[in-house]
Amino acid sequence: MERILITGGAGFLGSHLCDRLIERGHDVICLDNFFTGNKDNIRHLIGNPRFELVRHDIINPIFLEVDQIYNLACPASPVHYQYNPIKTIKTSVMGAINTLGLAKRVKARVLQASTSEVYGDPEIHPQTEEYWGRVNPIGNRSCYDEGKRAAECLMMDYHRQNGVSVKIVRIFNTYGPRMSLNDGRVVSNFIVQALKDRDITVYGKGSQTRSFCYVDDLIAGLVKMMETPADFTGPINLGNPIEFTILELARMIIKMTGSRAKIVFRPLPQDDPVQRKPDIAMAKRIFPWNPEVSIEKGLEKTISYFRPLV
Ligand code: NAD
Ligand code: UDP
Repeated sequence: MERILITGGAGFLGSHLCDRLIERGHDVICLDNFFTGNKDNIRHLIGNPRFELVRHDIINPIFLEVDQIYNLACPASPVHYQYNPIKTIKTSVMGAINTLGLAKRVKARVLQASTSEVYGDPEIHPQTEEYWGRVNPIGNRSCYDEGKRAAECLMMDYHRQNGVSVKIVRIFNTYGPRMSLNDGRVVSNFIVQALKDRDITVYGKGSQTRSFCYVDDLIAGLVKMMETPADFTGPINLGNPIEFTILELARMIIKMTGSRAKIVFRPLPQDDPVQRKPDIAMAKRIFPWNPEVSIEKGLEKTISYFRPLV
């Protein structure tokens, strides 16, 4: 049994991770400032003796006694991370420094929720961990992309300079229940629009691709990564390598919801990556890990979650 801190624990991924770690018999401290997280995501855990909730902003230092830290605090949807870009980069950078400072003091192991965005608009396909990326350092997405890149840098510098045990996971697009209704990311947007019979907003021509991982698969991968030997830092890609165009996703969701919604085309946001698909050979070999939930099954579960909420 370990004492585990999850920063961003009331968010979409964080709340599923709280559930998984409590099921496994650990004590969990969920830290969140509720910027994009929601108490409803963790309400069922309040009162559980293995669960504690701390309202805190990770840009400020925190003193706790823990064995492991999953550093997930950061808005993940482009709409939310661009709302206050200075705060976004402070969250990634100051959050990493505060998390690593805590880890150094109490000798805890840290897992950093990094992102496929460190590859930017990639020139190689699929993206392998060796690829250094093609990120615009001054665009609308930079607060997120460069913040996450700086956080990776800090992880490795604390590891080399101070011997902190770190694990870097590059998470590719993940979806599932507990994404918020106004999250703004594509899967929740399309499902909510379809369930309301409202226009499905495809940005650009919809020919850009993404690969969508169901949340349960991703959480299993995060836990496996945390449990790898101390000298394995990653970075490692986690995501589902089955790739779709955004237009294909829109059509799939319309069909599965039985919606009368129509597809409409809206301008493509700046620096929107053209294609994205993880190479997960490293995770398959090392953990081993392989996503198991098909897009049909995952969307079905996500649609069932949203149906009573819209
Ligand atoms: P989310 O927005 O649902 O969760 C982020 C959580 O962090 C929220 O609960 C939010 O309130 C909290 N938070 C934000 N700023 C904070 C701060 N300054 N102090 C304390 N808490 C703060 O997003 P998510 O999809 O659950 O993403 C979780 C992590 O995984 C993020 O770091 C994100 O960058 C990373 N990630 C997610 C995906 C994905 O597809 N879901 C892909 C790549 C990376
Ligand atoms: N997208 C879209 N309509 C929406 C929301 C997103 O066409 O209502 C597109 C977006 O332009 C991007 C893809 O879907 O090409 C994935 O967007 P998301 O915000 O989910 O995450 P990203 O992978 O861009 O960070």
